[in-house]
Amino acid sequence: MKSPQYSVLILGLDNAGKTTFLESLKNQYNQQSKPLDKITPTVGQNVGVIHLPANSCNLKFWDVGGQQNLRKLWPSYYAQCHGIIFIVDSSDKLRLNECKEVFLNMVIEDDQLSDSGIPILMLANKQDKEDSLEVQDIKEIFNKIAEKLDASDSRVLPISALTSKGVKESIDWLIVRMQRNKKNRPPTYR
Ligand code: GDP
Repeated sequence: MKSPQYSVLILGLDNAGKTTFLESLKNQYNQQSKPLDKITPTVGQNVGVIHLPANSCNLKFWDVGGQQNLRKLWPSYYAQCHGIIFIVDSSDKLRLNECKEVFLNMVIEDDQLSDSGIPILMLANKQDKEDSLEVQDIKEIFNKIAEKLDASDSRVLPISALTSKGVKESIDWLIVRMQRNKKNRPPTYR
């Protein structure tokens, strides 16, 4: 029997931890991945599928790269995805403003995002580092922007992709919202 499959776009600046997050997911759900401290920057797309037995469905993740020249490709994925994860490096205070601008542009530039009801999960990554911003500080910046997405559920959650802390909880949050939004964005069956 075919299982429902939801596609999730993993976005964020380069070096935010997108690849590490995807490998951490594969590690936890599929038991096959690279050692998390041996990951090299993504060039082009990085795709991975995990199976969630408890929800009887598959999640397909697309990490499409966060370098400036790749960001213009992001909107071409919005029409097909069921959820978006935006990863922030909480320890990189120097790039927080850039990160905020990129998120704001993403939200205001494309009506598909606010109209489709697709959930948007912001992950405050690298919480294991001592000098990281608290999740509350990240919330203050990003929740104001996320309010512009009328139809979408959004949330900011703390994680460490490197230690995998909070990773499973983040998927638990997302899957419930994608299933709730399936009238607007039905899953595909594979
Ligand atoms: P990407 O460019 O967004 O795909 O970022 P990567 O996954 O390649 O990670 C960039 C760097 O940040 C690598 O050196 C990772 O080991 C490191 N990194 C990623 N996540 C974490 C984390 O949760 N904690 C710490 N301390 N380092 C991390």
